[in-house]
Amino acid sequence: MKCHAHTTEAMGVCAYCGRGVCLDCAQSAAAGPRLACSPACANSLVRTELAMNSILRKSEQSARASSYYSYLCAALSTGGAIGAVYYLPHPYLIGFTSACAVIFLASGFWYGRIARKGF
Ligand SMILES: [Zn+2]
Ligand SMILES: [Zn+2]
Repeated sequence: MKCHAHTTEAMGVCAYCGRGVCLDCAQSAAAGPRLACSPACANSLVRTELAMNSILRKSEQSARASSYYSYLCAALSTGGAIGAVYYLPHPYLIGFTSACAVIFLASGFWYGRIARKGF
């Protein structure tokens, strides 16, 4: 494959538009670790990566919020289960609130893991 701008042999393809890129082009585009055929493509690559990062950060934040919320619900359900044992000893009620506590605890743990490691 030849470079899109020169007659020299391409060393790779542009990570953004897929055209052939020679060493000169790659150096003038300066897209960091990625190959780009032109400064315009290098800019687009950086912009795309920034957008991806901010989307990832946002979903990490919402996962963290969901994690806290789940733990809160788990705590409330546990309180409800303990309350049910003392004040309203009904097997169904105790079973239901305990099941809720376990489910919320599990989802809190799950969201917390997503928030720490990303997707
Ligand atoms: Zn390109
Ligand atoms: Zn070139």
